[in-house]
Amino acid sequence: MTAGAVPQSGHIINLSRMDGISAIRRDDKGSFYITVQAGTTLSELREQIKDKNFDISKWSEESRETFKEFCKAPEQFFSPDPTETSATLGGMVACNASGARSYLYGSTRKHITAIKIALCSGHTLTIRRGEIFAAGRKLDLVTDQGHSFTVNLPAYEMPKTKNTSGYYVENDMDAIDLFIGSEGTLGIITDIEVRLLPLPRIIWGICCLFENGNYAVDFITVLREQLTNIAAIEFFDVGSLAILRAQKKENPAFARLRTVEERINAVVYIELHCDHENLAVENLAKMAQLMKESGGTEKDSWVARNNADRDSLLFFRHAVPESVNMLIDQRKRKDPAIIKLGTDMSVPDRHLRRVMSMYHSMLNESGLQSAIWGHIGDNHLHFNILPHNEEEYKKGQALYAQWAIEITRLGGAISAEHGIGKLKTGFLEIMYGRNHIFEMAALKAVFDPKGLLCPGNIFARQQLKDKK
Ligand SMILES: Cc1cc2nc3c(=O)[nH]c(=O)nc-3n(C[C@H](O)[C@H](O)[C@H](O)COP(=O)(O)OP(=O)(O)OC[C@H]3O[C@@H](n4cnc5c(N)ncnc54)[C@H](O)[C@@H]3O)c2cc1C
Repeated sequence: MTAGAVPQSGHIINLSRMDGISAIRRDDKGSFYITVQAGTTLSELREQIKDKNFDISKWSEESRETFKEFCKAPEQFFSPDPTETSATLGGMVACNASGARSYLYGSTRKHITAIKIALCSGHTLTIRRGEIFAAGRKLDLVTDQGHSFTVNLPAYEMPKTKNTSGYYVENDMDAIDLFIGSEGTLGIITDIEVRLLPLPRIIWGICCLFENGNYAVDFITVLREQLTNIAAIEFFDVGSLAILRAQKKENPAFARLRTVEERINAVVYIELHCDHENLAVENLAKMAQLMKESGGTEKDSWVARNNADRDSLLFFRHAVPESVNMLIDQRKRKDPAIIKLGTDMSVPDRHLRRVMSMYHSMLNESGLQSAIWGHIGDNHLHFNILPHNEEEYKKGQALYAQWAIEITRLGGAISAEHGIGKLKTGFLEIMYGRNHIFEMAALKAVFDPKGLLCPGNIFARQQLKDKK
């Protein structure tokens, strides 16, 4: 997504065998917390939680006792849901991953209560949420081996929108938040304690199909204002639907995709989470009414009330980025200069329509192929430019830079989900300015004086050379 895990040089560290769950605890309110090793994938974690099937052979007596309570308790879940479930927990924490359900539950950050990090010095840091705070923008840390040091936090103010652009910093912040979203630049996360939530009894998926894209945006606006049990609101534009239709026709792996008639130009996916069926039915009826008032019709909707139907809607959701990635891959084989050009910018609620029309008019003018989809509930869409050759790629890059300037001006974030990696360092400079980039680099140097960890992530080597 951002080339964060693509090395420019040096060594690759593979954590895939650091997988497993090592402990469970319960707080006095009855919530469960499990400690997971960083190489565990999200799909493995989900499966083990669902099946209540952990290898407890090396667990403490206390954890084993809590596990008995866990087995008797109602089903639990870990809410962060990046579409790609092969993500590891370490990767999710490093990128502060989010997903469709972050609309209701928040991103990974909100569900992490402790982490252990291996530092370049060979020491480890163990940080529990709520225990270590900065004083203003100064943070004192002590490693597990007893070494104390102080970190000066950069002075910028983060936007009030969904945001994963650069280091998370604010006055008097909790120390754990500095490491969540630090994209592998400060240390290697080895162990993570995550908070589980009781799984809602009713989870329904609903796809609302619209002939006009503007009707879909009208619908989303009233939906956000009037309904509260919504966990996800996702959007797919005409370009995304065209790519899906082509995939269904040409690629057997996508043959089971649902058919979307040519007259449909936008789809909105909604997930309802309720504890009672009556409440879900009430919400569904209200949704149907809002859909009608916004120019849609009830017959143009798919409702998934069981897991099999919901999986088919989620397959539809996942097929969009997957297909775009495949398309870029094919074109890259012909012209290696092409790299995926996908935005993940966010803006405050009041600017959603304005930025959508900006993106549309600039894309139309440019003549470039595009596909737009994503987390519209948080005003956070993926505008993907799909270049055929280097010339179009460069044109797309120039558009992206113009958008970054406008998004910054509107108080948004140039990355709300995937982080900066190596592909968006220039946009981060647009957002925060060069001096704050130097402050971030100085912060990294405290943890990693030789610049060994993920060089090129968040700030490019060139940006730092320019300072010298
Ligand atoms: C088709 C597709 C759809 C996606 N959809 C979403 C989505 O909806 N929401 C979303 O947020 N993301 C999404 N992503 C991105 C991806 O899910 C996240 O970036 C994920 O959290 C990364 O996890 P990973 O294990 O793959 O990490 P990697 O890609 O291996 O690494 C990502 C970065 O984290 C660092 N890192 C990894 N492990 C550690 C560790 N243990 N300690 C320190 N640093 C570490 C790496 O150095 C790298 O910089 C999607 C990706 C794909 C391919």
